[in-house]
Amino acid sequence: MVAAPRTADESERDLVSTHQGIDLTAVPSGTGCVECEETAGWWLHLRRCAQCGHIGCCDSSPGEHASQHAASAGHPYVQSFEPGEDWFWDYPHEQYAEGPRLPDPQSHPISQPAPGPAGRVPADWQQRLHP
Ligand SMILES: [Zn+2]
Ligand SMILES: [Zn+2]
Repeated sequence: MVAAPRTADESERDLVSTHQGIDLTAVPSGTGCVECEETAGWWLHLRRCAQCGHIGCCDSSPGEHASQHAASAGHPYVQSFEPGEDWFWDYPHEQYAEGPRLPDPQSHPISQPAPGPAGRVPADWQQRLHP
């Protein structure tokens, strides 16, 4: 039996067979956004670079450090670093993707709030999010 060919208009790409941009030995850089931790910033959600493990904040966060890292480092895929989420984002194709299981931990600690980190989120954080 021959598998049906994948069509170009599928909503998700399958990255399992992709080698460039994914390193199955790269562990997360920490539990918070690298750049926000350096500048005492805060974030809404976290993304994990599939190539080097860099943890950065999402595009709704003030810093948008995950996207900045992808652009500056040339690393094409991130995976959500939120508990219970396993989707990838494919920057070159600007779409969600499925990918292989990366090394643990799969997310930041469940006890860590979103937005976070605890103590650095301003009271008016909802007005500061990027659309
Ligand atoms: Zn950040
Ligand atoms: Zn990276």
